[in-house]
Amino acid sequence: MGLFDFEDGKEGYYGEFGGSFLPEILTSTVNELRDCFYDCKDDPSFWNEFVELMHNYSGRPTPVTHLKNLSEKLGGAQIFAKREDLNHTGSHKVNNVMGQGLLCKRLGKTRVIAETGAGQHGFATATMSARMGFDCTIYMGAVDVARQRPNVFWMENLGATVVAVEDGQKTLKDAINECLRDWVTNMSTTHYALGTACGPHPFPEIVSYFQRIIGVEARDQFKALTGKLPDKVFACVGGGSNAMGLFQGFIEDDGVELVASEAGGSGPGLGQHAARLAYDDATIGVAQGYKTYFIQNDDGNMQDTHSVAAGLDYVGVSPILAHLKKTGRVRFEAATDKEVSETLRLVMSTEGLIPALESTHGFVAACREAATMDKSQSVLVNMSGRGDKDIFTVADALIDEHWKQFIRNKADEYDA
Ligand SMILES: *Cc1c(COP(=O)(O)O)cnc(C)c1O
Repeated sequence: MGLFDFEDGKEGYYGEFGGSFLPEILTSTVNELRDCFYDCKDDPSFWNEFVELMHNYSGRPTPVTHLKNLSEKLGGAQIFAKREDLNHTGSHKVNNVMGQGLLCKRLGKTRVIAETGAGQHGFATATMSARMGFDCTIYMGAVDVARQRPNVFWMENLGATVVAVEDGQKTLKDAINECLRDWVTNMSTTHYALGTACGPHPFPEIVSYFQRIIGVEARDQFKALTGKLPDKVFACVGGGSNAMGLFQGFIEDDGVELVASEAGGSGPGLGQHAARLAYDDATIGVAQGYKTYFIQNDDGNMQDTHSVAAGLDYVGVSPILAHLKKTGRVRFEAATDKEVSETLRLVMSTEGLIPALESTHGFVAACREAATMDKSQSVLVNMSGRGDKDIFTVADALIDEHWKQFIRNKADEYDA
């Protein structure tokens, strides 16, 4: 049985995880979305329309690149990367967002709302809305608005309204709550474009459906390049959408091991990381409309998480991945901030590639294991996005004095 062939009475459940826990007032809207999505899924011309849009607008198919220098340097398995960094807006997020834009059109809705933490999903959603002609409102915690100004700048200039949420911790969790409140009020005109393979059913399935374009392409490309399948496939996991996207291409291939890499931050211990499944600090609960592992205390209050990669810094995880861990199909590892900055330097200097800090978590696990494997073996890692957006964080980590001076000079110009 496939992941999305639900047993009677268990629609939206992946083993014990998933479900839909929402205010009753949203039931009709969520059902309408689900029915529209299932109609599209049954219609082969819908997938073709989506693929064509991604070819023409986002530069798909993205290539698979053999990282020869990196492989030689580590002396083990051949390492290949799926290049989601080459998408428009710089990451895989656009796959989901453009797909949901097509759904929104079919639903006859004219307005899109979304939550965003680091701002990458909000940026992609604002881009899609500009292109497809929707009104767009992005909810973002006030703390995140303050620290992610470049993304806020682009969202606003693309025509979106960015609402800085002042409730609670003023971060992603509070933005999600505010976004749901908006949906309840405006559901007749508004589609909620959720950003990852989390949240209430049908969102984990919808997001996975569009992201599977990554795995469908990658499997064919890898076979064409090498004549075989990779021994292992790696992806980083925030909510789980890029991992679900790549893994779906290989999930039926028993010989291909699927490895997920979470944010190990500064190592195990509550508050130090965002590794929900690789470390033992998360427990099962229901929050934000679905059931999964959350980093929470005994009272079910969400705890602080930490990662150098803002896009992996999330308390929950895809219910589908929680299930695939439990069944043993996906193995979970973690990469610490320190490993990430070392591996980023290694990949930049050997291959001239700049993976996003998020994606570099996948590279850490891939490099670690490739080094112990045979030269005749091969691994594929999802380069989920490009690292240009991380220049502030990386420059800090590398203690780059020239960069600091540049920022000071800029500030002085504005003061003058
Ligand atoms: C947002 C983001 C992620 C994490 O999200 P997933 O849903 O787990 O894929 C990973 N990589 C990049 C580049 C991102 O922008």
